[in-house]
Amino acid sequence: MSAAPGAPVLVLNSGSSSLKYQLLIPATADVLAAGSVEKIGESTGLITHRVAGESFSSEDAVPDHDAALAALIRQFADHGPDLDDAGIVAVGHRVVHGGPDFSAPVVVDDAVLSEISELSALAPLHNPGAVAGIRAAQGLFPRVPHVAVFDTAFFTSLSPAAYTYAIPRELAERHRIRRYGMHGTSHQYVSQTVATFLGGELRDLNQIVLHLGNGCSASAIRGGVAIDTSMGLTPLQGLVMGTRSGDVDPSLHSFLNAQLGMSIGEIDTMLNKESGLKGLSGVNDFRELEKLLAAGERTAQLALDVYVHRLKHYLGAYLVQLGRLDTLTFTAGVGENTPAVRAGTVQGLAGLGLELDPALNEARSKVARVISTPSSRVTILVVPTDEELAIGRQAIALT
Ligand code: ADP
Repeated sequence: MSAAPGAPVLVLNSGSSSLKYQLLIPATADVLAAGSVEKIGESTGLITHRVAGESFSSEDAVPDHDAALAALIRQFADHGPDLDDAGIVAVGHRVVHGGPDFSAPVVVDDAVLSEISELSALAPLHNPGAVAGIRAAQGLFPRVPHVAVFDTAFFTSLSPAAYTYAIPRELAERHRIRRYGMHGTSHQYVSQTVATFLGGELRDLNQIVLHLGNGCSASAIRGGVAIDTSMGLTPLQGLVMGTRSGDVDPSLHSFLNAQLGMSIGEIDTMLNKESGLKGLSGVNDFRELEKLLAAGERTAQLALDVYVHRLKHYLGAYLVQLGRLDTLTFTAGVGENTPAVRAGTVQGLAGLGLELDPALNEARSKVARVISTPSSRVTILVVPTDEELAIGRQAIALT
């Protein structure tokens, strides 16, 4: 049975301490309501609900994910729309880690839920929250399918050469240590949108997508199939991010342990929460970084330079992996809104077929657009990502 074309889906993104949600109509991309419950497990939770151009914020005790779902239900009851009348046909759940086997969205049953739970070893900060969120939502919406959409699924197409770390093979196989990649829902959605926007066929395009938000990742996509990506076993590998270091020498751990007595936990926290733009400049938000840059702050300039240098590194690597590049696309908060990052990334690459149009690059817009010159061999684009819409579409496809 398939759902009516205008039917709404509830999309839930359950993190370890937050629950973000959208009630949307996948067929039209209309968002009926959206919001978040933050600081789950802390003494006071923060609840925000947006509907019909209005935003409502409140505070309440939210000890766990059941309470977060209850808070969500209260928001809909108090401010609308009425969830009982909404006719929800599916609940789509973002799940960060699907391991090596979940290569597509699945309807959640007990076996799927226990597999997601078992994958928590690979994503201890993310999968337990997703499991708690799914369980709580199943209790509240028992009659509709719950669909898990995995952040890793798009990258299960990587070849062994691309996903294998050069460490003892048996150890890696026994503990499923390999590159998985994350942000897959966004990379897939954006690459499909590029093909539609250009009026071409996905299978004909060699693409590089740069997802630059708080977390950042790059991907190389041949004919709609991902062949490489910068995040690895965890979301720490690859590009410089808001608070994450991205690539460092793997011996940094033993150096810090031997020289400073730092524990593995302390080093992990430092690399995940105190590094990246924040570690280099003191701020992790690009809007704050831009203020420091405007004030001539030297450390902010270094942070931008390191960020862009790493982007060029991956751009070059993926250009060579692909052999021929047709499109380069910037997406997510920084990618969509920061001309300096886009200009820096492609600066000096006219010889490789990448020519940015400075005026198009500077123009502010919320829609998909080309920012390269007509003569640029590679089409450079900005495409807003929409992970919730992508999850909603994938969820409704399984009803
Ligand atoms: P997340 O990874 O949390 O989904 P986003 O894609 O929302 O992140 O990106 C968040 C980051 O994008 C912010 O920290 C900020 O640095 C940057 N950003 C968002 N809007 C703008 C803007 N208008 N100008 C510059 N940077 C922006």
